[in-house]
Amino acid sequence: MKAPSKSILSWCAALLVIAAVGVSGFAVYDRSGRTDAKATGDERIGLYASTLDQVVERFRTLPFVLANDESIHKLLEAPADRALIDRVNRSLAALATAAGADALYVMDSSGLTLAASNYDQPKSFVGENYNFRPYFRDAVEHGRGQFFAIGVTTGEPGYFLSRPVWREGKLLGVAVVKISLEGLEADWRSAGGNIALADNRGVLFLASPPNWKYRPIRPLNEAERTDIRRSMQYSGISLEGWPLLKHRQSPDNGDVVNISMEDGDLHSFLVTRSDLQGYGWTLYSFTDLAPIRRAAVLAGAASALTAAVLLLLFLWWRGRQATLRVKLDAHDMLEQRVTERTQELVRANDSLSREIEERRRAEDALKRAQDELVQASKLAALGQMSAALAHEINQPLAALKTTLASAKLLIRNGATERAAATVATIDDLVARMGELTQHLRTFARKDFGEMEPIDITVVVQRALALANARLGAEGVRTVIDMPAGGVTVTGNATRLEQVLLNLLSNAADAVSSEPERIIALSVLQNGGEVLLSVADSGPGIAPDHMASVFDPFFTTKQVGKGLGLGLSISYAIIDDHGGRLRVRNRTDGGAEFSFVLPVAQSAAPAATAIGA
Ligand code: ADP
Repeated sequence: MKAPSKSILSWCAALLVIAAVGVSGFAVYDRSGRTDAKATGDERIGLYASTLDQVVERFRTLPFVLANDESIHKLLEAPADRALIDRVNRSLAALATAAGADALYVMDSSGLTLAASNYDQPKSFVGENYNFRPYFRDAVEHGRGQFFAIGVTTGEPGYFLSRPVWREGKLLGVAVVKISLEGLEADWRSAGGNIALADNRGVLFLASPPNWKYRPIRPLNEAERTDIRRSMQYSGISLEGWPLLKHRQSPDNGDVVNISMEDGDLHSFLVTRSDLQGYGWTLYSFTDLAPIRRAAVLAGAASALTAAVLLLLFLWWRGRQATLRVKLDAHDMLEQRVTERTQELVRANDSLSREIEERRRAEDALKRAQDELVQASKLAALGQMSAALAHEINQPLAALKTTLASAKLLIRNGATERAAATVATIDDLVARMGELTQHLRTFARKDFGEMEPIDITVVVQRALALANARLGAEGVRTVIDMPAGGVTVTGNATRLEQVLLNLLSNAADAVSSEPERIIALSVLQNGGEVLLSVADSGPGIAPDHMASVFDPFFTTKQVGKGLGLGLSISYAIIDDHGGRLRVRNRTDGGAEFSFVLPVAQSAAPAATAIGA
């Protein structure tokens, strides 16, 4: 089973906290509301008890006064005296009116009413016997009686206070005052609240809620019912109704009772009670708990709402803290990465510096090695050149020496014509030596002369014209392929002519021992470039020599035939023109030398003038 996610648990915990706060708020307010209600009930009961006392006390002495009244004594001793009865009746009526009593009356020792304040009313007590009433017997037996009952004659409830009438140790009768407590009930109703007064059996005989009246607060047992019936206390009233209280619990702050109301609903009341000493009654105050509950529910809801708001604020604050923490963490991480990266860079930089240092040292070493090599090459080249030059110069010098000796001899012998021919040979030898030194000068010179726009086809024609004598003599066939309009390049016509002449001369050397002697020269313009190539039908270049042909003093020719400088000079000239001289062996035999030059963009070629 999947475990509930953390957020669901948090929400459940939050809801629990809110519910707990709500319930606690409800409980606190409910408790304090009940405590207040109990205090108010206690206060109210105390007040009403004393009011009741005051009302009753006003009349308490009245029966006593009647019991000691002379005319009453006389009446009880002469009960048939009509005039006396009439007088006593009137004085009782006057006294009842003055005192505010419901009724004042006098019974003989058998309980028969002889005179009463209501003698002249339809429901007069006169002639009625009330010996079944406890207040009659109590007065006779205990010297005083008090009893609340519904009047059997009038049907009106009242409180009866009685005193025995004695004369010289003989019981004459009983004097009674009946007072109404309805006024109290009216006061309770107008003051609000639920007040009820119960007799010693728990029957409510005064109550501010009208329908509570004459209902037992608890179930009556059979003996109690018999007693009530016998004394006719609640004559005409059925006490068979349900007991008022349905349920009763007793929390610390007062008893709580459930009472079924007129509408049939069960209401909870906080009940406070006070047993009224001397009456045998109990005064009750019932405070409806519904408003207290409503207030407590509202307070609970308000507490829960406050808790929810505080909780939300807390969650918001915590979320914000978490976001801040994440940002700080990210910042820390970034800083750490930057630090690490910086350290890496510093390390890389260090190693780079070391590498640079090593490279520099290696370069120094290489340069030193190169310098040494150059020095060695120079020495080697010098040796080679010295040997070649010595050979080249020695040969004509030796020939010159021999020819000069023969010229001297011819001159001495007078053979002037032959001497002149010998001098011509000397001239040739000197010219050859001059040619040699010319080559060396060219090789040594760094400045290759002026560069200008020239027509390369004209340069080719000039070179061909110079070579043609030899080519023709040796039976070499030339194949020329050039664009008719000419191609202008920027360069030095003399130097390029020298290159072409050298290439033609080498080609002529190469084909000299071949049966078929062909040299093909082509000028091919391709966009911004022009390709010049000189190909021959000779043996081509041996693979071993391929890498060395452009080296100075490399030659395969016989001593005296070649210096090995032609191609290296040509290479340097083409290089100066921004091109590169290349060589390859053609597939159908023979070597091909070629180079590419950039085509000049504008300006008229100056080389045409050379060709003119
Ligand atoms: P030299 O002509 O004095 O020998 P070069 O520098 O002109 O000096 O040529 C160097 C060498 O290149 C030649 O000795 C020859 O071996 C080789 N060579 C040059 N041109 C050709 C060619 N067209 N065919 C074959 N070999 C060639």
